[in-house]
Amino acid sequence: MTRLDADVVIVGAGLSGLTTAFRLARQGLRLRVVEAAQRPGGVIGSVRRDGALYERGPNSGLDTTPLVNELLAAAGIADRRIDAEAAAARRYILRNGRLLALPTSPPAFFGTRLFSWKAKLALLREPFVWPAAADAEETVAAFVRRRLGAEFLDYAIEPFVAGIYAGDPEKLSVPAAFPRLIALEQKYGSLIRGQIIGARERRKSAEKAKNAAVSFSFRDGMQTLTDALARGLNIDHGVRVAGLRREADGTLVAECERADGRFELRARAVVLAVPAYEAAPIIARLAPDAAAALGEITYPPVATVASCYRRADVAHPLDGFGFLAPRRESPPILGCLFSSSMFAGRSEGPTVLLTTFIGGARSAPLAQQPEDELAANVSGALQTYLGARRPLWQVATRWPQAIPQYTVGHLRRIAAVERAEAAVPGLRFCANWRGGVSVADCIKSAHESVEAVQRFLRQQAAGAA
Ligand SMILES: Cc1cc2nc3c(=O)[nH]c(=O)nc-3n(C[C@H](O)[C@H](O)[C@H](O)COP(=O)(O)OP(=O)(O)OC[C@H]3O[C@@H](n4cnc5c(N)ncnc54)[C@H](O)[C@@H]3O)c2cc1C
Repeated sequence: MTRLDADVVIVGAGLSGLTTAFRLARQGLRLRVVEAAQRPGGVIGSVRRDGALYERGPNSGLDTTPLVNELLAAAGIADRRIDAEAAAARRYILRNGRLLALPTSPPAFFGTRLFSWKAKLALLREPFVWPAAADAEETVAAFVRRRLGAEFLDYAIEPFVAGIYAGDPEKLSVPAAFPRLIALEQKYGSLIRGQIIGARERRKSAEKAKNAAVSFSFRDGMQTLTDALARGLNIDHGVRVAGLRREADGTLVAECERADGRFELRARAVVLAVPAYEAAPIIARLAPDAAAALGEITYPPVATVASCYRRADVAHPLDGFGFLAPRRESPPILGCLFSSSMFAGRSEGPTVLLTTFIGGARSAPLAQQPEDELAANVSGALQTYLGARRPLWQVATRWPQAIPQYTVGHLRRIAAVERAEAAVPGLRFCANWRGGVSVADCIKSAHESVEAVQRFLRQQAAGAA
């Protein structure tokens, strides 16, 4: 038998790879974690500046699954978790140049000026709309137009999709991107009926829908999570895996590159916790069909701009989570989080911190502007929508390939990946292009990957005995 460098090699130390490695390490397995960047965390990064704390990428998680708190407890950071302030339950949507609160109750819904009476009345027909065929793969836009009408698409779903995926509902696949919607339609024949009848069932379930889950972060920002997971692991930073091959005895060999040359890592199992466009060339020789499928997954660019203002220089009360800007309004931004209203300790003294998102599938070129232009565009938009003047400072972060798009065909792509996992024992993929893009989705997917790897190692050990 070949000499092995590890039981499992984990490629990529973003949240998905770190969660997988953290949990496998606790099973006493020998691991090697390799990460191309010089720091762990992937897109998660919290930065302190002048008494403020801003996030370069994700600003919060949602505890939609009990696995989130289990992980925090195991990593010893449960007491550092902070939850969003009660006021953050209010979310604004831009309409006709004004910010209107998204209604959260039936009376508020009938009273809101966010939707016209025509749109509100059209909702009454939703329970009578036929479900799509069980195997149909509709776009999010087609699904919403069919069930709820065009205005809901424009002023609720499109901005919401831009907020989660920075995506285009005309392209995203509803069963891949929002499987709960399809489940409601298939089970209850209607979203409204499902919302009412399913309420008791959901209360009993340990899993929570995104709209019912609590937003959380940490006193020192989201990086607390990835730093805690990385702490006990031995991570090789500055190492890029370029290829993967399988030897005759089943050993998987990760072909690694770093500044001073190339080397190989041999292991029983390999978890690829990297973006789809990185995983594709790695498996090109081993699983060409899966590589082709992964190569089809697109990642539009997004930029985030953290802006600090004196409280007195912002006219809006900032009494909420933030606002989303629907495409219909032709805004230069996707939306803005009222970061210092969401979580305590995000700004100091009489200042406020706002985090603005730009680009996405809707307006990719805007995310690619030079940093000073990004900052100038954001301060212009925040002046228009929030009456914010004279930022004290701004920092832009550009993500040239930000969030994977679960477009129509995604389920077929994932099926190709699953076939590759079945054909190459010990190979596992675990990243945000599979099973959901959110922080909680990545934690859940990592949990599933750990189980798959453990199952494989047990079977291998049983076969060898
Ligand atoms: C701007 C932005 C804002 C977001 N906001 C939120 C939010 O508020 N709430 C939320 O729930 N989710 C949010 N998300 C989504 C979520 O946080 C991410 O999906 C999740 O953190 C991704 O983790 P990951 O490990 O799958 O991928 P990544 O974080 O991308 O990690 C992949 C890692 O693999 C490494 N790597 C890549 N190629 C190689 C290679 N060949 N060899 C070795 N290493 C390699 C990379 O350097 C990286 O560290 C946001 C995402 C972005 C981009």
